[in-house]
Amino acid sequence: MLIDTHQHVFWHGRDDKGLVEDLNEHGIDVAWLLSWDMAPDEDNGTYHFALNPIHRRADGTHAGIPLSDLLLAREHYPDRFMVGYCPHPLLPNAPALFEAAHDMHGVRVCGEWKFRVLFDDPRCLELYRAAGALGCPVVLHIDVPFRPDEAGQPVYREDWYGGTVANLERALAACPQTVFIGHASGFWREICGEADSHTATRPNSQVKPGGRLITLFERFPNLYADLSAGSGLNALQRDVDFARSFLIRFSDRLLFGRDYYGGELQQLLNELDLPDAVLKKIFHENALRLVPLSPSMHKPSAPNVPNAPNAPMKPRDSKTPLVPVIAMK
Ligand SMILES: [Zn+2]
Repeated sequence: MLIDTHQHVFWHGRDDKGLVEDLNEHGIDVAWLLSWDMAPDEDNGTYHFALNPIHRRADGTHAGIPLSDLLLAREHYPDRFMVGYCPHPLLPNAPALFEAAHDMHGVRVCGEWKFRVLFDDPRCLELYRAAGALGCPVVLHIDVPFRPDEAGQPVYREDWYGGTVANLERALAACPQTVFIGHASGFWREICGEADSHTATRPNSQVKPGGRLITLFERFPNLYADLSAGSGLNALQRDVDFARSFLIRFSDRLLFGRDYYGGELQQLLNELDLPDAVLKKIFHENALRLVPLSPSMHKPSAPNVPNAPNAPMKPRDSKTPLVPVIAMK
């Protein structure tokens, strides 16, 4: 079984049907679909080429990847998609929005957290605690605000998200009941002990000991990571010997994911001569432990039959029964 724990829909030129075709092509049974709640002042147009033009706002900015698109995809392919959602943490009462999405729409992942806000802002911590209380992991995107130039001077980057691993560290400590799944360039650069001197977004040098990411994995059992996107792939490819030992050592907390299409990560993982037990954990066991499939998904089928009826999600506890979520056909 294969679960893609970091995916988007109506993204990079494909609709939900196109995404399912890509899942089928790569033997992927289920994907977690993540939202991107883009605030107008966080949108400089960089991603407009990859987003669904339906969601362009009247002011010319883009709403990103709204929950409504994810729900539409799940309605069409209920046995292929788990739905995630992360409201902008600076919205009034973001935790309540997340809880409503959980109860009303069966959202089981808080993600993608991708905002131009420091990751340990108190309003963010409140959101993480709400997600943790519901058993939902937080998928986070970190891109650092400063990188050194060749002379070692810090250069500001306007497309930062979350801050640095120092902000992540404080959130991990403040929210021990919440699982955090790290992702993106600002996260993976810290696999190397010399991250502070790297000028590139995705450094390709050999990994040096002392990476802050390793320390965080050692200290915080609530830290996980998905291996998605060019950043995850690069972190492994830059030093495959290190990658192999890292994957084995933290195999209980690493997740297969793509953030895009194609089979490069799958191919690399299969080429690293990893023990079968490690591959199983990364390919699906860890994902299932964090986010069990809904009853209708226990036998994922490929090819998929669109518009099959979905079964109700399980209630979160007996006192607060969850209304059957998607029995709306
Ligand atoms: Zn993503």
